[in-house]
Amino acid sequence: TPLILWFRRDLRLADHPMLTAALANGRPLIPVFLLDPETEAIGAAAKWRLGLSLADFATRLEGVGSRLILRRGAAPEALARLIADTGATGVMWSRAYDPASIARDTAVKTALRAAGYGAESHPGFLLAEPWQVETGQGGPYRVYTPFWKALRQRDIAPLLPAPKQLPPPESWPTSDRLEDWQMGAAMRRGAAVCLPHQAVGEAAALTRLDDFLDQRLARYAEARDFPATPATSRLSENLTYGEIAPARIWHAAMHRLDAGDSGAGKFLSELGWRDFAWHLIYHFPALATENWREEWDGFPWRGDSADAERWRRGLTGEPFVDAAMREMYVTGTMHNRARMIAASYLTKHLMTDWRVGLAWFADCLTDWDPASNAMGWQWVAGSGPDAAPYFRIFNPATQAEKFDPNAVYRRRFIAELSRTPPADALSYFDAVPRAWALSPDSAYPKPLIALDKGRQRALDAYAARKA
Ligand code: FAD
Repeated sequence: TPLILWFRRDLRLADHPMLTAALANGRPLIPVFLLDPETEAIGAAAKWRLGLSLADFATRLEGVGSRLILRRGAAPEALARLIADTGATGVMWSRAYDPASIARDTAVKTALRAAGYGAESHPGFLLAEPWQVETGQGGPYRVYTPFWKALRQRDIAPLLPAPKQLPPPESWPTSDRLEDWQMGAAMRRGAAVCLPHQAVGEAAALTRLDDFLDQRLARYAEARDFPATPATSRLSENLTYGEIAPARIWHAAMHRLDAGDSGAGKFLSELGWRDFAWHLIYHFPALATENWREEWDGFPWRGDSADAERWRRGLTGEPFVDAAMREMYVTGTMHNRARMIAASYLTKHLMTDWRVGLAWFADCLTDWDPASNAMGWQWVAGSGPDAAPYFRIFNPATQAEKFDPNAVYRRRFIAELSRTPPADALSYFDAVPRAWALSPDSAYPKPLIALDKGRQRALDAYAARKA
């Protein structure tokens, strides 16, 4: 009798604890992906990118004598139907830790077990399970540095080989066709523009890791803050869909650290931030929806507005901010320094509620991750755990001088600033919806607000709130 392997954000074969456990059973295996309401609800770019990942993973499964069955519907019912269709006796999956997934998975586990079926969840998405890293008093961490110290001391799961063969069932159940799911339907922007910037699937992720370690790790600590320089790994995109295990990245970087590679320590601690974000959202599920510090609830944030719309479109008149927003539109990702600048400008200079920005990032990023996005926004806004203080307001102009001294990044994404605009700057105009009526010949806009004025307005609101 077969076992059902319910794949979600673990679309790889290597370093996969659930797959290894399933193979040990020696039973036929039926891999399935469900387009359930929780998956339907994710942002446009992430959903499109997930579709690419599913296509790649299906091919990979075929390479080991298996298939990826696609079914639509809420998980408890869809899995019950699949069990009825196949005579399977149980379901296995890799854990997810955001509130919606936890609610779904708990319901599935309860329903399956009540009906006498097996239901087994496994780790693999994080370096450590969120409940395994505890403070001396036994609670969750709220501050990164001690969390990181504790995480570093743990034994991280060993690497696991990719199976050569997955035992197939005697007959395969029916499957939807991926094309019919229209995963890119909500992409407002031209997916063709975004496609060349993606590195899809397990093989691409492993190549990306190797290239990064060989070519960029040594300079990572110095160069990672300069958005025009290809200095970081870009693995966030692959981690989001589980195309690579964080444990694989960890061990590879540790190996370099042991060999004396100077960038490896910094890189490992950045990787640790991802686990910290998931640690936080697991223990504080409101991280993505509510101010983590309650004292922010009374702050006079502005809601959505015409200014926020200009921010979304990369038309604030502040070149570093606009380059950042356009980078996200063209590539599906945004450099970390640029994320901080763009988020700071929205929440401070435009005094806009961080949730307005969080929602736009969630719609546009192909590396969208509910935990890192929420932690990033609350960190910049000042309302989050271990956050930058509100009065520390990034000045996008001086940040640009410091981190984009030759304006390479700004020119790369803002055609209006160059006589001979580079391809990505022009791509932006191919990517935006027609309704925005933008062309590379449009005049570059004047700043929405003078930087000193915006800064003062934010500081005044902060002082008034404290008084
Ligand atoms: P590298 O520098 O190569 O780092 C390696 C890995 O470490 C990354 O792939 C990522 O998994 C992890 N990492 C590095 N920095 C952070 C960080 N600050 N927080 C959490 N993990 C980190 N990251 C996402 O993956 N998805 C998001 O939706 C997301 N939204 C963000 C929103 C805001 C407002 C901010 C300020 C940051 C956000 N980040 C998000 C974190 C960070 O910007 C990205 O992880 C990073 O830019 C990814 O690029 P990279 O893979 O080249 O990183």
